[in-house]
Amino acid sequence: FSLSTLMAIAMPGKNSLKSTPQEMDKFVTELMKKMTIEEKIGQLNLPVTGEITTGQARNSGVARQIEQGLVGGVLNLKGVDKIREVQKLAVENSRLGIPLLFGMDVVHGYETIFPIPLGLSCSWNLAAIQESARIAAVEASADGICWTFSPMVDISRDPRWGRVSEGNGEDPFLGGAIARAMVLGYQGANNEQQLQRDDEIMACVKHFALYGAGEAGRDYNTVDMSRNRMFNEYLYPYQAAVEAGVSSVMASFNEVDGIPATANHWLMTDVLRRQWNFNGFVVTDFTGISEMVAHGIGDLQTVSARALNAGVDMDMVSEGFIGTLKQSLVQGKISMETLNTACRRILEAKYKLGLFDNPYKYCDLKRPTRDIFTKAHRKAARRIAAESFVLLKNEPFNKIDKNGTTTHSLSPLLPLKKEGTVAVIGPLGNTRSNMPGTWSVAARLNDYPSLYEGLKEMLAGKVNVIHAKGSNLINDAAYEERATMFGRSLNRDQRTNQEMLDEALKVANNADVIVAALGESSEMSGESSCRTNLNLPDVQRTLLEALLKTGKPVILTLFTGRPLTLTWEHKNVPAILNVWFGGSEAAYAIGDVLFGDVNPSGKLTMTFPKNVGQIPLFYNHKNTGRPLQNGKWFEKFRSNYLDVDNDALYPFGYGLSYTTFQYGDIVLNTPTMKQNETITATIQVTNSGKYDGAEVVQLYIRDLVGSITRPVRELKGFKKIFLKAGESKTVSFKITADLLRFYDYDLNQVTEPGEFDIFIGGSSQATKTARLTLK
Ligand code: BGC
Repeated sequence: FSLSTLMAIAMPGKNSLKSTPQEMDKFVTELMKKMTIEEKIGQLNLPVTGEITTGQARNSGVARQIEQGLVGGVLNLKGVDKIREVQKLAVENSRLGIPLLFGMDVVHGYETIFPIPLGLSCSWNLAAIQESARIAAVEASADGICWTFSPMVDISRDPRWGRVSEGNGEDPFLGGAIARAMVLGYQGANNEQQLQRDDEIMACVKHFALYGAGEAGRDYNTVDMSRNRMFNEYLYPYQAAVEAGVSSVMASFNEVDGIPATANHWLMTDVLRRQWNFNGFVVTDFTGISEMVAHGIGDLQTVSARALNAGVDMDMVSEGFIGTLKQSLVQGKISMETLNTACRRILEAKYKLGLFDNPYKYCDLKRPTRDIFTKAHRKAARRIAAESFVLLKNEPFNKIDKNGTTTHSLSPLLPLKKEGTVAVIGPLGNTRSNMPGTWSVAARLNDYPSLYEGLKEMLAGKVNVIHAKGSNLINDAAYEERATMFGRSLNRDQRTNQEMLDEALKVANNADVIVAALGESSEMSGESSCRTNLNLPDVQRTLLEALLKTGKPVILTLFTGRPLTLTWEHKNVPAILNVWFGGSEAAYAIGDVLFGDVNPSGKLTMTFPKNVGQIPLFYNHKNTGRPLQNGKWFEKFRSNYLDVDNDALYPFGYGLSYTTFQYGDIVLNTPTMKQNETITATIQVTNSGKYDGAEVVQLYIRDLVGSITRPVRELKGFKKIFLKAGESKTVSFKITADLLRFYDYDLNQVTEPGEFDIFIGGSSQATKTARLTLK
C-alpha cells in the first residue's frame, strides 16, 4: 500500500481541495481500511513534544511514537525547520505516512503581537479583529503551524479570573460577533473556500463550555449554572464560531452539571453536534482527560472511555486514549464505531487542510523571512492597538502653585502637546517583556520597545522623554516566583522603596508632564493568575500619590489584563488611559494616543467594579423584586450593600474620546412589528467637539414582560462610525424578530409578543429610548 497511490485515486490533481464531500469520504474510508486499531487510536493522540528538537528528533520518545503511527498531531513546537523535520518523520518513516497536525496557542498574534483579546474586543471593530487573526494566520502558517488554539470566547463576569484577559468580556452578542470574525480571520473569509490557501489555518474555539464562570473567579473551578442561563447568556459565542465553520472545538477543564465538560455527552454530542450541527473534531484541553481522575469520576481508563463516548476526538497530553482505548475496546467499554468516528474526524481535518495533498504545505522555508513581522503587519498592529485603548477619565488639570493658588484649565489634560519634557515613571515604563501580555508565543518577546523607548524614538527632536522606575511592580514573593516560572522577570530593583521614590521625584521635577506607567505585570493575568485584590499594588499606589503631590499633571497609563478597582485613582488622577497589554507595537500606539495623533475610541467590554465585593457585576443583569426605585417601604430592605451602591465605576460599553458625541432621538419607522417584519431604528449622531473621532454606537433592547424574567437590557447591535469634528451621521439598526428571541423555560427559542424598550447610545447606560411593540 502506498498513500500516494491512494491519493492518486481519490484526490485527482491540484484542485483536490475543492473535491466533494463524497471524494473526501471515499479517500478517508479507503485509508481507514488500511489502518490498524493502534494506528486509529494514534490519530487521536496529541502528546506534549517538549523533547523534540532539531537533530535529536528521532531519538525522543514522541519521535518513536510518530514513526509507529501513534501520534495524530504535535503541540506547541516552534520553528518551521523543526516542524518540517518532525513532519518528515510521520510522512516518510511511519507505515502509512499520514501527516501530522501542528497546533499552537497563537492567541493574539504570532511575532507581530496584537493587544490581548480583552483589549482587542474593546475596539469593537470587527474588521480590525478579523484582520489581526488573518495576520496571525499568515505569520504562524509561515512558520509551520496549521492549527491555532484560538479564539477563546468564554464569557466572564468575574475579573478575579486571570483568563478574562484572553476573552472578549461579558457580553454574548459582542462575543459571538468577535468569535465569527476570528474564525474567518484564521480560516479564510470565504466560508466555501476556507483553508485552501497555505496561509489559512484551522481555528479551535475554546473552552467549551462555560470555563469563564468558575466559582469565585478561581481558575479550573467548579461551574454550576442553570441551563436557562447557559443558553441565554453563555453559549452563544461558541455557537457563533461553529456557524462560522470553526474546524475544531476544545473541551473545557470545568464540570458542567456535575460532569466534567470533557466527559459530558450532553454538551459534546447533544448540544454541539445535534443542536448546532458541528462537524469538525473536539480536542481536550491540556491533560483534560487525566484531570478527570482528580475530579473523581474514575480511573484513567474509565475517564478516557467516557471522554471518547461523550464525543471527544483528540486527547491533548493525557495519553489516556493511546494508553487505554485498546483495552476499553476489547472490554466493550467503547465501540469500534465510536473509535472510527473519532479517527475519521481527525483524518477529515487533515484532508480539508490539504495535508494529504501536500504534507509540507505549511513548511515553505522561504516564507518566514517574507511573511513574519513585516512592516505592513506591524503597521496594522500599531493602528489596532491604539483602537483597543480605553480612555477612562480625562479632566482638566488645575495647577496649584506654591502659595496654594489654583489656576483652572478649561481643556482636558489629554491629548498632550509635542513639546517640553515628559517623564515616564513607573515599573511598567521601561520593561519590554510586559508589552505583549499573556499567551505571547513570539520569539522576540524581549525585543519589543518599552513605553519609554518607543516614546523617545517617536518623539525625538520634539519632546524630551525621561524615565525613572519609581517602584517595584509589587512586593510579593508569590508573584515574583510566578513571573520567573513564565520566564519573565519582575525586574526587582535592589534599591529601597525610598531610594526609588526619591529618584522618581527628582526626575518628575524636571518634567512638564508625568506619564505614570502602572498596573499589572503581564503574568499577573492569564491562565492560573487569579487575584482577590484588584487594586493597584500598594507600592505603585504610594508612588502615584507621591507623583500627584508634585503638583505636575499626571496621566495614569494603565497596563492591565483585567478590570481593576480604580475608585481611588478615579477620584484623584485627572487622566486615565487603559492600555491593557497592547502587543509588539504598543509603545508607539500609546504615543499616538497620548499625543493626539489618534483619538481614542475603545469602549469597555467588561464592567469595572468599584470594589471586589460587588463581583459579579455586569450590565445585562436581571431585576430583583426590589429594584431601587420602588416605594418607601423597600428602602430599608432593598437589594444592595450598606457600604457601596450597585453601580459600576466604569460600565460596559463606556469609554471617552477627545471629542464629544451628541445623540438625537431614536426614530422607529413604525412602532409596531409583526413576527416576520423588520423595522428600522434610526438616530443621528453628531461630533460636537473639536477633534475628529470614532464612536461605537450601541443598540440595547429590553423585553419588558416575558414568560421568564428578562435582563434589564441586552446589547443587540453596534456600529463603529467615524465623524469629523462638527459632522453628523445617521445610524440605523435593523430590528427583526430574531433579535428579540430568547430561550424560554423549556429551552425553546421563542419571540414573545409584547413591548420592548430600545436604547441607543455610546455606552450601556444609553439614555435615548423608544418603545416597540411586537404583535
Ligand atoms: C490552556 C489552553 C491551551 C492549552 C494548550 C491549556 O492549559 O487552558 O487554553 O490552548 O493549554 O497550550
